[in-house]
Amino acid sequence: MSDGAPLVRLHLLYTGEFKAMRIKHPIGILGATGMVGQRFIQLLEGHPWFEVAWLAASDRSSGKLYGDAAKWRLDSPLPERIARMTVSPADPQGAPPGSVPRIIFAALDAAFARELEPRFAAAGCAVISNSSAFRMAANVPLVIPEVNADHLHLIEQQPWRRESGGYMVTNPNCSTIGLVLALKPLEERFGIEKIFVTTMQAVSGAGYPGVPSMDILGNVVPYVGGEEEKMEAETLKLLGQLAGHVVTPLAARMSAHCNRVAVEDGHTESVSIQLGNKLGRPVTREDILAAWAEFRPLAGQGLPTAPEQPIEWAPQEDRPQPRLDRNRGRGMAATVGRLRPCGVLDWKFTALSHNTIRGAAGAAILNAELLATLGKLEPVAAAAARV
Ligand code: NAP
Repeated sequence: MSDGAPLVRLHLLYTGEFKAMRIKHPIGILGATGMVGQRFIQLLEGHPWFEVAWLAASDRSSGKLYGDAAKWRLDSPLPERIARMTVSPADPQGAPPGSVPRIIFAALDAAFARELEPRFAAAGCAVISNSSAFRMAANVPLVIPEVNADHLHLIEQQPWRRESGGYMVTNPNCSTIGLVLALKPLEERFGIEKIFVTTMQAVSGAGYPGVPSMDILGNVVPYVGGEEEKMEAETLKLLGQLAGHVVTPLAARMSAHCNRVAVEDGHTESVSIQLGNKLGRPVTREDILAAWAEFRPLAGQGLPTAPEQPIEWAPQEDRPQPRLDRNRGRGMAATVGRLRPCGVLDWKFTALSHNTIRGAAGAAILNAELLATLGKLEPVAAAAARV
């Protein structure tokens, strides 16, 4: 989308797609019984474009009714229709012909995703994944629609796309996504040279049952396995440039410190940044606030899950806080606050986002909505009729 022309294409396809969407796309959920799988079910209930048609999880759950297999942990009731669905094995091979939907939202641990997601892509499915297994693969787009929608072109480089029509798209780690939303407009206007971030991550980020209560109550655990490396690599890929078929990561230096804290949902982050010189003069507080306020790259595109204001500013001196701010924009906005000069780098602020909505299921659904408007779900459906 870098040359501008595809914007026109996007609009035209959107018009066509919108008509087709009177019939909802059937979708499947891999890892449907887990923390993120449950969020998918909650967020897709009443979705105007997508309808849950297939649920899969491990051998422990397959063959059971979803209502018996899943320990429902969310504060809205489990929809009756979903509770009565039977959980399928997480494998397209051996499934009754036509039973596996062509659009698969995946919420599997990376070890299982590494093995299972390619099987679904090979079977002609659009796999929209939450796991880290393929995020850094050169031909797999790692996408936040407001940040780097153009990276979706990478799906055309995947072997499955040519062979069966299937492909993989990933969304970032739950702590990366709020940070990158806050950084993108600053990188666009001013450039970013250094990023220093310390996270305070909710327990739901570890799935269910996650961190034992004896380890986390009244405590802070200064280690989340693999998280710091993921945050550093993913942030620079997301803010990188796609040229041809290659993403060149942003040439900034970054350091992440990741901590688990006794919060149920919502990841909070203390961020310091050193800005570049794109503006040709020192960047003021007003410049940064304007960059955040004016950042609305999806405005007018009609994506049902897109928040009106992706970055919300909290002016109070003690905000954002997870309990008070995580549900802004129906859980899809990142909230920023406490912007002030930094004694080591240039500026520092606090960022917060909901880890299982904006950081996981909501992120994947927004990616699927973007793919729908780009016409990338339809050819997959045609190719996957062979499944
Ligand atoms: P979770 O609560 O532990 O759920 C894992 C799911 O995978 C369950 O449905 C489980 O089914 C299924 N599963 C386990 N082994 C399987 C197997 N061998 N074959 C098929 N399915 C299997 O984990 P989660 O928190 O939802 O996370 C899912 C993925 O999303 C992970 O990669 C995670 O890193 C990522 N993610 C999580 C968050 C978050 O905030 N939680 C945010 C962003 C990304 P059973 O119930 O049958 O065991």
